[in-house]
Amino acid sequence: MPWIFRGLRDGVLTTRYPRRPDPYADDGVESLARPLPGAEWEPGLDGLCPTGAITGDADSMVRLDQGGCVGCGACVLARPDTFAWQHGSRQSRVDRAGLIVPEVPGTDEELARLRAELGQRTKALRRSVHIRHVDAGSDGSEEWEILALLNPVYDVHRLGIFFTASPRHADILLVTGAGTHGMAAPLARTLEGTPRPLVVIAAGTDAVSGGLVAPSYATSNGIGSLVPVDVWVPGSPPSPFALLHAILLATGRLR
Ligand code: SF4
Repeated sequence: MPWIFRGLRDGVLTTRYPRRPDPYADDGVESLARPLPGAEWEPGLDGLCPTGAITGDADSMVRLDQGGCVGCGACVLARPDTFAWQHGSRQSRVDRAGLIVPEVPGTDEELARLRAELGQRTKALRRSVHIRHVDAGSDGSEEWEILALLNPVYDVHRLGIFFTASPRHADILLVTGAGTHGMAAPLARTLEGTPRPLVVIAAGTDAVSGGLVAPSYATSNGIGSLVPVDVWVPGSPPSPFALLHAILLATGRLR
């Protein structure tokens, strides 16, 4: 009985995202660092990052590969004049290079081509999509966030998004983990057994770049070396909104 009264008191908690803006989706998540606008490269900045995500380039700008950022906060803490947290959950990209901030110039045309190709391929999946999750060496944190997609706050069923236990019924492979060598063959078999059109999402910094553990005797540098990836989602772990953003991006339901 108490839960009936609690439900009546709290009302509907389910987000309206993406139909309506959600403050938590747009501003509330701090999981990735970024260089401040105009931040200049100095020797030693790269030493702040345990994953080697910070680099400098020929034009003296600091570049940060968010695909390698595990959100430890070391750079923001040590150099608040150069780095800051990035807010919001629109973190996924259809090209791996797009995760480098500030953007590398001259990638717009390639990006437009990739998005058009993906949009065309997934046209049939826009109203309803089934996802097969594959753990390719995850630490378990991404799985908690994926599970949250099914709770009453996110309730992805309202968007026609479902999880399936069989690759035969899947349209999307949502792959987590750094890509352990032991999972290379099962992942390849899952890919082979999934009908086309198919989208592969690399979910989390470990899946994108290997994170803290790569390269090692047991893992690859992310799953990109094992399967062709269509959408890259950084974050360690990515929030449920970031995962939802990736799924909607993959199916062409976002601008
Ligand atoms: S937050 Fe940590 S992992 Fe991310 S770029 Fe900064 S130092 Fe590297």
